[in-house]
Amino acid sequence: SKRWSHVQKGPEDPILGVTVAFNKDTSPSKINLGVGAYRDDNNKPYVLEAVKKAEKKIFEANVDHEYAPIVGVASFNNAAAVLALGEDNSYIKEKKITTVQTISGTGALRVAAEFFGRFLPGVTAYVPNPTWGNHNVIFADSKVPVKSYSYYNPSNCGLNFEGMIKDIQAAPAGSIILLHACAHNPTGVDPTHEQWKKISQVCKEKEHFVLFDFAYQGFASGSPEEDAYAVRLFVEDGHLIGLCQSFAKNFGLYGERIGAFSLLANSAEEAAVLESQLKILIRPMYSNPPVYGARVVSSILSNKELTQQWRSEVKLMADRIIDMRTSLVKYLKQHGSTKDWSHITNQIGMFCFTGLTPEQVDRLASEFHVYLTRNGRISIAGITSKNVEYLAKAIHSVTK
Ligand code: PLP
Repeated sequence: SKRWSHVQKGPEDPILGVTVAFNKDTSPSKINLGVGAYRDDNNKPYVLEAVKKAEKKIFEANVDHEYAPIVGVASFNNAAAVLALGEDNSYIKEKKITTVQTISGTGALRVAAEFFGRFLPGVTAYVPNPTWGNHNVIFADSKVPVKSYSYYNPSNCGLNFEGMIKDIQAAPAGSIILLHACAHNPTGVDPTHEQWKKISQVCKEKEHFVLFDFAYQGFASGSPEEDAYAVRLFVEDGHLIGLCQSFAKNFGLYGERIGAFSLLANSAEEAAVLESQLKILIRPMYSNPPVYGARVVSSILSNKELTQQWRSEVKLMADRIIDMRTSLVKYLKQHGSTKDWSHITNQIGMFCFTGLTPEQVDRLASEFHVYLTRNGRISIAGITSKNVEYLAKAIHSVTK
């Protein structure tokens, strides 16, 4: 039958390509800097002790496997909102917020995009240039027009703040502005507190709708509160934000697909109206979300001791990442590099835009068995105290 003969093979994900090349390499010194998940100093996936304890409690409670409501597990939704917005947030207290559990951060963004496609038809979503590749596709697939605003400045591997402000100002009033709340992926470049204030003010003046993608709370600085700075500032400034949360990185629950989407509203009544439409939208997509990850996160965040343990473990992960940044720069200098590598330590989170050219990236792979995407992005999670010096030597070799 010729039924599918018109279907052409699509291109592979560029990050997947890095892993395929890495797996083929038989060198014992090979390094994979394409991984999008945390690794410990032995290059192993890390299961948080807080998660293990929560799992034990859940197992011992002999829970059933009934369906969750369309919006997910209520105790999780509340805990997610509190974690992002803070204990005494008035929107939560006065129920001027709706939170739905989603299929991790991607699912939160997809639900958000579907909601905009339906209720803000034709309104363009602006994403940073560059951004996490999935943003563009999620909006496009949900029939939300998508454009970008200036973000990264390649000349200093930092933020193009003026360009960013100019583009946000030039966007039609009432546009959707997507902001990475912290640990911008793929650049690792975040605005300063002062810059966030200005961004908030400009978005306010233009009556833009701000959607935060919050995939790394606690994972960037080690403090969930510090990482929530921008989100809480915008809420204080009176923005009725949209918020997409992921618990993949900060709880190490990648494959459990646990996330949340929230919308702030003018009143409790409005929040209920918004929720009713989110339910109508979610029901034909996946009916209701899986319960396991929600149970794990809510049992941690509803228990003081486990919350404390989670905080120390998320800090441990963040600190290891920060240490590896410092260590990489130290060895680059030690091996004679005179280039300015300060952006490596100025940037934050799992990813770093090194400024390496595609040709240098190719040489790293062919000569040194070091694998990363050709845009020069490295995942710091792939660096350990054992391979950091080798990596520094390799980077120095291809950049001198
Ligand atoms: N948003 C950003 C910026 C990300 O980097 C990621 C993951 O890499 C996500 C969202 C969503 O990830 P997940 O769907 O695994 O929660």
